[in-house]
Amino acid sequence: MKIGIPRALLYYYYHPLWKTFFEKLGFEVVTSGKTTKELIDKGIKASVPEICVPIKIFNGHVLELLEAGVDYIFIPRMMSTRKGEFYCPKFMGLPDMVRYSIPGAKDKILFPKVTSLTDDISDFKIYSEMGETLGVSNKQIKAALLDGQKAWIEFRRITKEGYTALEVLDYVETGKKPQNPIKDYRVTIGLMGYVYDVYDEFVSMGIVDKLREMGVLVETFEMMDENLLDAELSDMNKRLFWTFSNKLLAAGYKFFKDGHIDGIIHVTAFGCGPDSLIGKIMELDSNEFGKPFMTIRVDEHTGENHLLTRIEAFIDMIYREKVKVKKEA
Ligand code: SF4
Repeated sequence: MKIGIPRALLYYYYHPLWKTFFEKLGFEVVTSGKTTKELIDKGIKASVPEICVPIKIFNGHVLELLEAGVDYIFIPRMMSTRKGEFYCPKFMGLPDMVRYSIPGAKDKILFPKVTSLTDDISDFKIYSEMGETLGVSNKQIKAALLDGQKAWIEFRRITKEGYTALEVLDYVETGKKPQNPIKDYRVTIGLMGYVYDVYDEFVSMGIVDKLREMGVLVETFEMMDENLLDAELSDMNKRLFWTFSNKLLAAGYKFFKDGHIDGIIHVTAFGCGPDSLIGKIMELDSNEFGKPFMTIRVDEHTGENHLLTRIEAFIDMIYREKVKVKKEA
């Protein structure tokens, strides 16, 4: 049996867990390819116009998997991974959106409900309901989840050493150790953005690599320890409702306060409701903290040259300021 996993949304955070889980159960895992212009165009046609870009992209990946002839596509209903916080409503409704808007998808979606108190979502209760459909026993599910959990914990451990999700996903896939993160750098940037925006190379146009080529050390929220992010949030008067938005905001404030971070770039996709709030909060507070902050909003039509020019100008401005301050000291 072939299980499809779309290379989109939380693929960039949970793929080692899900892939290991299904493979240990004896299934073939088919991951959709990288996002392309054609895939986005297909996704746009299958989506309501007002939905955010990452969901349109996700739909394109689902279509690709259906065309590849998989038996099922895994689209968990992501509800909550923190007490009192929830996923953005689009995640909660995603299985329904796909089942009722994409022809041929209705009976091919596996959509367990994910509710957990931590980011570790390898709890048996979440996945047990799929046993009957997949023809596997509870014992097999438990054993496969143990292996999946191990793979995910290792993925998160290495990411926290300063590697990008893409580098570590590649490591988990191929066993090829990632290179050491950049050593000689002139500027350090805190990069804020959901993993599916930052690491989908079509959406962010490979922003991490572009920054590294400019001599920039990049730090992201998923390179940080969850406890550190939680501690940052506990200082805030009010948290947001959405888990990943809170992670971004916590990372943003950490970047504001950390002396070694020279500036912050926020990558956001067109049509994202939670991000419009985060962007505004960060923009207002950047003045208070006196730290350069820039938002890059991408949509399906954003041009690479435009993006590059803006990043180069931002990095250049920060570098000149650094040199000036050093001379004056
Ligand atoms: S958080 Fe924003 S980008 Fe992500 S699914 Fe929700 S609306 Fe879309």
